[in-house]
Order: sequence, then structure tokens, then C-alpha cells
Amino acid sequence: MHEGMNSESLFQRALKVAPGGVHSPVRSFKGLDRAPVFFKSAQGAYLTSVEDKKYIDFCQSFGPLILGHLDPEVKEAVHKMVDTAWTFGATEIYSLELAEWITSTLPFMEKLRFVSSGTEAVMSVLRVARAATGRDKILKFEGCYHGHVDNLLVKAGSGLAGAAASSSAGISAQVASQTLVTPLDDEAALEAVFQAHASEIAAVIIEPLPANYGLLVQRPEFLKKVADLCKKHGSLLIYDEVISGFRVGLDGMVGKTGIRPDLVTYGKIIGGGFPVGCYGGRADLMNLVAPSGDVYQAGTLSANPVGMRAGLVTLQKMQRVNGWNVLSERTQKFVKSLQAGFDKKGLPLQVSSEASLFWIHGKSDKTIRTIEQIPANQGVNFKKLFLTSLDKGVYLAPNAYEVGFVSWAHTDEILAEAAEKIISSAE
Ligand SMILES: *Cc1c(COP(=O)(O)O)cnc(C)c1O
Repeated sequence: MHEGMNSESLFQRALKVAPGGVHSPVRSFKGLDRAPVFFKSAQGAYLTSVEDKKYIDFCQSFGPLILGHLDPEVKEAVHKMVDTAWTFGATEIYSLELAEWITSTLPFMEKLRFVSSGTEAVMSVLRVARAATGRDKILKFEGCYHGHVDNLLVKAGSGLAGAAASSSAGISAQVASQTLVTPLDDEAALEAVFQAHASEIAAVIIEPLPANYGLLVQRPEFLKKVADLCKKHGSLLIYDEVISGFRVGLDGMVGKTGIRPDLVTYGKIIGGGFPVGCYGGRADLMNLVAPSGDVYQAGTLSANPVGMRAGLVTLQKMQRVNGWNVLSERTQKFVKSLQAGFDKKGLPLQVSSEASLFWIHGKSDKTIRTIEQIPANQGVNFKKLFLTSLDKGVYLAPNAYEVGFVSWAHTDEILAEAAEKIISSAE
């Protein structure tokens, strides 16, 4: 079926039928002066291109595949489900089982609703927050990504504390004006926004481990301050754990920080590689959602049974094999060897990591916690490293500001091989 195909010519075809040749922007290799690799199959830690070249995959579909591609247990569950039913559009036992597993495992998830993407989870949770508080404004942090929800495609504007400007065309000024933006890691700026807008802020949404603009690990005191100010001013606290949830540990950043948010969003890992998102938290807030309450939210394919099974089996396996601890250890070892290799070559590169996430960036004296602190040459350094690693058979996420993901399928041997290839690519 793929005989004689090559990525370059496929990309030319793709450019004719899809904007930029892709269905999500970062896949396009924009700024990397190379056609993106077209893949035809995947297995464990590996991707195979249409040219039959094998790559060690650190993108892992941007996070969902914590067990790697085609994990045998998940695969079996998916096959079984596909042979049983594809979608019901009615009540069924599969979403019930996953919902019961989550609510009984994570006490802060008193009630939840499944949707089909992280974006949809965020969009829905903001509606709940507005309904619950009778307020309109949402406060977000510069450098946090929450999907392509209109209100949250904003960046810091000029002038007043919290002022926002849209960061995408096609967003009405009116919608953008309902969002406030403040820097990460800055208690004083946060206080100033609350001072100016406290009674208007329905919710503060944060990636408690910002991992969509590099890896911007926050100080616990800062996260505590966010929570305290929310409590003080009657704003709801929303943890967007679409990327960190079930990645940094079973109970995500809620567990790591010991802070209990009012509402939480999940995506990525929760669907085990299938399109699933989820929002939930306090039962009194979730009871506002239709049909029990009057916040409307619906979905034809919501809680799709294939995703429900893939998610449940993924999470149960991770729990059974002590997956989070094992992955953290493996990743630390990998990151240490990368760093040692860069240091040995005298390169100004540094590797930050948290659990099974890692990010290669320019050397910095201090921990990078805000987007301003990211070294200015990040894109240039990355391009060379990325392209040479690619030639050697290592597929990093194709953007300088995306993190790498280590999966259960990345054994110590595979990681050692990858480290050697990445180090030899760096200059
Ligand atoms: C990926 C991501 C989203 C968006 O999820 P999609 O499934 O791509 O819509 C939202 N928030 C965070 C923190 C994410 O990492």
C-alpha cells in the first residue's frame, strides 16, 4: 500500500488538501526547513516511516501513549471493544467503569463528565465556573496552554494588570477581553490582577506543571499563592492536567502539590491513545451540568467505549506495574546521561525534566519558570539538534518548545541508544 512513497512527495500532496499539509500545526515541521516525516506504523517506542526507516519516538503523540505504541494489554482490550460495539449514544457500562475507577482512586474527582478532547474539557469547565460564580472573567498564565478554546488563545496585552490580547486571528475582541493574563512565578503580578479584578474572576486556570511552552516547573509557594488568592476572592481554581494528569503520577499534580482544586481537566493519557477528555471535581459544581443542572454540554461520541477501555486498561496497568516510579527513574537516568554527554562536549545545552517528561534547552543559571527566562537562541539550537537526531533515527517532538515523553516501552537499552544518538547530534 505504501510502496515507493516518500515523505517529501506525500507532503506536497498533503499541502494541496490541508492547511499547511497538516491537521494540527506543530506536526508540519514549520521552521525546520524539511518536509515532515510521514509515518505508516508504530510499535512500542518506535515509529516507522513510509521509507521504512525506524525512529525512537519521544513525541508519543504528544503525551497520550504513556505505555508506548500498541501496548499489548491495551491492544487486546481495544480489539475486544471494537468487536463488541463502536459507539452507543446511550448509557453503557464502559464509561461507568472508567468513571468509577477514577472517582474511587482520586478523592477530589467527586463527579466527572467525559468529552472527546482536552480542548473540549477546558471549554466546558470554564462554562461551569461562570455558571457557578455568576462571574465572567477567567485568569490564565502566560506560557500555559489550554487547547484552542477562544477565550484562552490570548497573551499578555499592554497596559493594565491582567490585560489580554488574542494570540490567534478570528477571536473577537469581546471574548479576549473576558480573559486576564498574568506571568507565571510572579506573586506580585498575580496580587495586582486580583486587586484590580477580584470580584469579576470566575476562575483561575493553570497548568500546575506547565509543559506546553518548554517545561516551566513552578515553585510550590507560587502554586499555593494561586490557590490562596482564589479562596480569598471566591474564584474557582481549575487545574488543567491534560498533560500532567496520570503522567507525573497516579494523582497528577494534585497529588504532588497537595493542593485541592475545585475542578480538574484531563485528556491525553486518560484515553490511552484515543480521543478522550474529561472534566470533573466538586460534586456541587458538576451537578450544575445538564441534565442535572442548566449548564448545557453534550457530545455525540462522548465517552466513546473504545477510548474508555483503552484509558482504563492503560491506567490499571500503570498502577499494577508501579509505572510512574519506574518511568521517573528511567527518565532521570536518561536525562543525566544526556546532560553528561552535552557537558563533556562543552555544549551550552541543558536538560530539564519532571517525572517522564524532559526538555532540552539552552543553558540557564536559574531554573526556567517563565517564558521570558527561556534562552533567546532556543529555536536555532533546537533545529540542528532535531534534524541531526532525526537523521540518526530519533524522533523528538518537532518544535523547540515541546517536551519529550518517555513511555513504558522505552527500556533502559533504548534510552541509552537514544542518548548516544542525541549527544552525537548536538553541536
Ligand atoms: C494538550 C493540552 C490541551 C488540549 O488538549 P487537546 O486534546 O489537544 O484538545 C489542553 N491543556 C493542556 C495542558 C494540554 O497539554
